[in-house]
Amino acid sequence: MSDIDPARTEQIRANLQAARDRIEAACAKAGRSPSEVSLVAVTKTHPASDVRALASLGVVDVGENRDQEAAPKAAETADLDLTWHFVGQLQTNKARSVASYADVVHSVDRARLVRALGDRAAEAGRTLTCLVQVNLDDDSEAGVLGPRGGVDPSDAPGIADLIEEQEALSLGGVMAVAPLGGDPYTAFGRLHEVAGRIRDRYPRATMISAGMSGDLEAAIERGATHLRLGAALLGARGTNVG
Ligand SMILES: *Cc1c(COP(=O)(O)O)cnc(C)c1O
Repeated sequence: MSDIDPARTEQIRANLQAARDRIEAACAKAGRSPSEVSLVAVTKTHPASDVRALASLGVVDVGENRDQEAAPKAAETADLDLTWHFVGQLQTNKARSVASYADVVHSVDRARLVRALGDRAAEAGRTLTCLVQVNLDDDSEAGVLGPRGGVDPSDAPGIADLIEEQEALSLGGVMAVAPLGGDPYTAFGRLHEVAGRIRDRYPRATMISAGMSGDLEAAIERGATHLRLGAALLGARGTNVG
């Protein structure tokens, strides 16, 4: 059991307040209500004691990007009633593990992964909410940076169809990471279009997971419903990798 350090909790409380202030200001500017925007605290590289501190401050949505780190952290904090979000690139051979603790998988980007998650969630008797990860890189950039995960925007509705066909999966919406060096307003605008196309077909798929510590204002302006915040809440990446 990891103990909560009061000084660390105070620091996280201040960070959380600052993040909420930014969210509120961005919502006011965009004419949106802050109640439309959920905050997922991404705890990668930070210890389970930080997850406890966040929970003590009322945070219920927690995110991780690597199964090797997420699985033990979720187990260590199983006494808390948290919603776990898996946000990183996911190999099909990790589907069984992820399906055992995750509630939402943000990074679903290929048919084989849809099948693996559907099968494993069914075996575990669980339902996973899945988001289609959309690749917003320009082709030219993608060539330089290499594959970063996510389907081409034109292929996103097809992946949404496959998710909907799986008994144990529920289509939540879409997710994206803004391209490095690009304009996040343009990128998140494209994501918003893709989200609309999928929502026309599946009206309940309303989630738009977009925006990290550096670009949450752009994401809110372009309709994000879920922000994934790491550094803004917990500071620079820790060395405490699981
Ligand atoms: C780490 C991570 C985040 C959080 O990024 P910060 O810049 O620390 O806010 C969000 N989404 C994904 C997919 C991540 O891997």
